[in-house]
Amino acid sequence: MSNTYENFIDGKWTSSGKYYDIHNPADYDEIIGRFPLSEPRDTDAAVLAAHKAFLTWSRLLPMERAQYVERFVALLDEKTNYLGECLCMEQGKPLAEAVGEPSRGVKECRYVIGEATRLQGISLPSERQGVTNTVVREPIGVVAAITPWNFPLLTPLRKMIPALVAGCTVVLKPSSDTPWCSVLLLELIEKAGFPSGVVNLIIGRGSEIGDTLCGNPLVRGITFTGSTVVGRRINKIGAEHFVKVQLEMGGKNPAIVYDYADIKTAAKSIAAAAFANAGQRCTAVSRVLVKRQQAEELEQAIVAICKEYKLGPGLEKGTTIGPVVNKKAGDSIMGYIQKAREQGAYIAVGGNRLSGGVYDKGFYIEPTLITGVTADMSVAREEIFGPVLTVQRVDSFEEALEVANSSEYGLASCVFTDIQANIYTFMRESQSGMVHINHGSVSESFMPFGGIKMSGLGPFSIGTTNKDFFTNLKVIYNQYI
Ligand code: NAP
Repeated sequence: MSNTYENFIDGKWTSSGKYYDIHNPADYDEIIGRFPLSEPRDTDAAVLAAHKAFLTWSRLLPMERAQYVERFVALLDEKTNYLGECLCMEQGKPLAEAVGEPSRGVKECRYVIGEATRLQGISLPSERQGVTNTVVREPIGVVAAITPWNFPLLTPLRKMIPALVAGCTVVLKPSSDTPWCSVLLLELIEKAGFPSGVVNLIIGRGSEIGDTLCGNPLVRGITFTGSTVVGRRINKIGAEHFVKVQLEMGGKNPAIVYDYADIKTAAKSIAAAAFANAGQRCTAVSRVLVKRQQAEELEQAIVAICKEYKLGPGLEKGTTIGPVVNKKAGDSIMGYIQKAREQGAYIAVGGNRLSGGVYDKGFYIEPTLITGVTADMSVAREEIFGPVLTVQRVDSFEEALEVANSSEYGLASCVFTDIQANIYTFMRESQSGMVHINHGSVSESFMPFGGIKMSGLGPFSIGTTNKDFFTNLKVIYNQYI
C-alpha cells in the first residue's frame, strides 16, 4: 500500500481530498505515492499563508533567517543518500547522479547562507551638506516557485533558499511528475522549525492551478524553471500584474569542435554533457558542429562511448542511463528520431527503445547519435530533451558560429579548439548565457546560471545574482542636519 502525501500550507499537511498516483519510471507497476490534485482555492490558501508570514519573516535580521536555513541544510546534508534513492525512484536517473543532486544542493545552499551577510546596497556622497544617500535592498514579498521534473530536488532548493535568506516567503509548486522530492524537502523545512507559512507546498497540475498561483495579487515574484511555452504564459501573467519574473527555460545547446587535436577528450566531454540524466537537462549538449575533416574521427569516438553505456533501472548497480521520465516524454523523443530518419539523417548508433525484461517496465532509449544532419531538420532546431545528439559538418569556424547562434535558444554553448583566436571570437560572439571553453556544459555551485533569448529572462540564479531577483531596491535620502 503506497503512502498518501499532502500539501504543506501554513505549517500544516493538508489538502482538499482529491489525489493522483505517481509511478516509478523504472517500473510503471510500482506506485511511489498518492499526491494531492490541488484546486485554485488550495493555492489561494497557500499564498495567503505566505503573505501573512512575510510580515514577521521579512523583519528578522538576515543572519537570523540564515540560522533557520543552516539548520535545514544540516538536515539535508545528513540525508543525501536517502534523498538520492527517493529521487532515483521518482524520476529515474542513475543513483550516483541522483545522490549528487542533494549534495550539490548542500553546496549551493551554503553559499546562499553567506549571502545573508552580502545583501549589500550602495552609498554615494550627496550633492548637499548634511545629507546621506543610500540604496538598500528589501525582500520582494511572496514568491511563487514553479519547478520542473528533471532536477526535482535541486531546482526547488535553488529557488526556495535564496528567497528565504533574502526575506521572502515561498509557495513552491513542483512538477506534478515529481512532487515526492518536494514533500521530502518540506519535511526537513518543518523539522528545521521555520515559522508557519514561511514555506508552503502546493501539489497539482500546472494547467489547473498555475494561472491562479501566478495571477494572485499577493504574489510579488514568480521564479520559474521549465519549458519556453509555459515560461511565455507566465511572463504574460507577470506583465499583467507588474510582477517580477525569473524564467529559466529550454535550450538547444551547441558544441563546436574545430581544430582541436584531442578528439577523444572532446568526444568524452560532449557525450557526458549530452547523455547525463538521459539527456533530460536544459544544458545538455544536443548538437555538435564539427570541422568536416575532423568529423569522422569525432563521430566514431562518440559512437564507441555510446556503446559503453549501460541502460537499466537507476537503482541497479552499474546503470549509467536510466529510463526517461514517462511514456509521453519517451514517445516524443522517439518521434524526433523517426523524423530525422525520414528527413534523410543517419542513425550512427542507438535510435531504439529497448524491450524485454526490465526494459518492458519503463521507457528506455539508447543513447543516440544522428549524423548527416542539416540545419533545416527538426532535430537540429528543436529541444528534444532525451539521449539524442546530432552532428552537423561545417567548413569554417565562422559557419560553425553562425549555425550555433541561429537557434532561438541561448542557454549554454561549448567550443573545443586549440586556436586562441577562435576562443576569443567564441567568448565574444556566442549568443548564450553560459559559455564553456574546451569542456562540456557543466556548471558550478557558486557561478550565476541562466540563459538569454528564449532560454531565460530576469536575473540569473545560483550565487550572487539571485538576490537581484529576490530583492527590490529602495533609495533613501536622509537629511540629518
Ligand atoms: P514544463 O512543462 O514547462 O513544466 C514546468 C513547471 O511548470 C511544472 O511545475 C508544471 O506543472 C508547471 N506548469 C505547467 N503549466 C503551467 C501554467 N499554466 N502555469 C504555471 N505553471 C505551469 O517543463 P517540464 O517538462 O517540467 O521541464 C522540462 C523543461 O524545463 C525543458 O524545456 C527544459 O529545458 C526546461 N528546464 C530549464 C532549465 C533552465 O535552467 N533553463 C532547467 C531545467 C529544465 P505540471 O508538471 O503540473 O505540468
